[in-house]
Amino acid sequence: QETALCAAPAFKYTGEPGTAHERSFIAIKPDGVQRQLVGEVISRFEKKGYKLVAMKMIWPTKEMAANHYADLSKKPFFSGLVDYFSSGPIVAMVWEGPEVILTGRKMLGATNPNSSEPGSLRGDYCIRVGRNLIHGSDGGESAQHEIGMWFTEEECSAWPRTLDAWIVA
Ligand code: ADP
Repeated sequence: QETALCAAPAFKYTGEPGTAHERSFIAIKPDGVQRQLVGEVISRFEKKGYKLVAMKMIWPTKEMAANHYADLSKKPFFSGLVDYFSSGPIVAMVWEGPEVILTGRKMLGATNPNSSEPGSLRGDYCIRVGRNLIHGSDGGESAQHEIGMWFTEEECSAWPRTLDAWIVA
């Protein structure tokens, strides 16, 4: 019998905000994909120590984009935002780790790239608020809602990471 290199976890991952298994929905928007910044984004989250638990490339329909940004439907930029978010494939991801929601937002930078600190993704790689590269959940409730909107439970892999003792002890 083969030795399992990636044994099934002995505990249930919940993704519950506030726990060591907190999860955030992070999406590289169509401009990030077009500009070949997918590797850069993934690399930053990986190097930070967060664990990638789900990922797929998907070209959102206008309906999907409108659902994702439903909270902003009254904003004057809403239709432009829906057009932007559905203008090409995005890379949708779920990242896991303690305080990944809040710290992930810091790694993204402010909504307006001109207010984003250098060193953040938006601070380093974009200029316009309407082409700001990346989405990240802004709280526990929205993280759970967005993960459920883009992924099934089966698509989120609760894989045990052998490096965990060096990162999340
Ligand atoms: P964030 O993405 O940082 O959570 P919001 O939820 O406020 O920010 O807005 C969602 C997205 O809508 C932004 O990331 C940006 O792409 C777009 N957006 C926000 N404000 C504007 C604006 N004034 N003009 C055009 N697009 C905007």
